[in-house]
Amino acid sequence: MENQKAQTIGNFGLKYFLRGGEIMSLQQRLDVKLDQRLTQEQKLLVQDRILGLRLRLIGKIHRETYKPHAVCPKCSRRLTPLQIIKGFKRNVNDYTTRCPRCHNRFEPEIICKSASSSTTLRFFCPVQTVGQLYGKEKLSPTEIQKNYPALYQSAIAHFGGLTQAFKEIGKSYRFKEPVVKWEKKVKQFLGLLPDSVIACLVQVKYNEVRKLRLRLNIRRYRTENLL
Ligand SMILES: [Zn+2]
Repeated sequence: MENQKAQTIGNFGLKYFLRGGEIMSLQQRLDVKLDQRLTQEQKLLVQDRILGLRLRLIGKIHRETYKPHAVCPKCSRRLTPLQIIKGFKRNVNDYTTRCPRCHNRFEPEIICKSASSSTTLRFFCPVQTVGQLYGKEKLSPTEIQKNYPALYQSAIAHFGGLTQAFKEIGKSYRFKEPVVKWEKKVKQFLGLLPDSVIACLVQVKYNEVRKLRLRLNIRRYRTENLL
């Protein structure tokens, strides 16, 4: 089960970046099909934009900014968040990413900034993140944040929160973390990300996001709009 899950998450294609909980709308399925027709360059562009939007929305939800950070110690190349994620081996014991220029492997970090503080932590890949969550479902968010800060921040950066991260390994997390004023927070992302992705990140029903978008007269997300 763990391996199967790890493999699913391990495919960092458009499907990975468009994950929106269990719901995959018809539009998303079409987008994944479209993904197969795009050139490699177009795929990377779309994935890069979606990842950037996801991180921005997650930052808004948690009132922090999340910046995956990696500068190759061998050739000084600064990696983009997408390059960092794609460079992971998807191996629970290997924390390194790969420099796209010189292929050197090294450990990336994540910089989390709030209004009052800035913390630099080790950045885990999604597979390592969910792998380390096993057995921790009885710990509150505060306990996880205090005892496993890098795991906590990686779970937020990849999945939007602990609830969604635990869901990835089939566990229901009893500590709910409702997003206050979610409508205000998602407004600028409507139509830029699929409704189901937004719904998953703010933990509301897909229909609520859809209704809000229609009320504001915003057209639904389409992958081709990102090209
Ligand atoms: Zn390098």
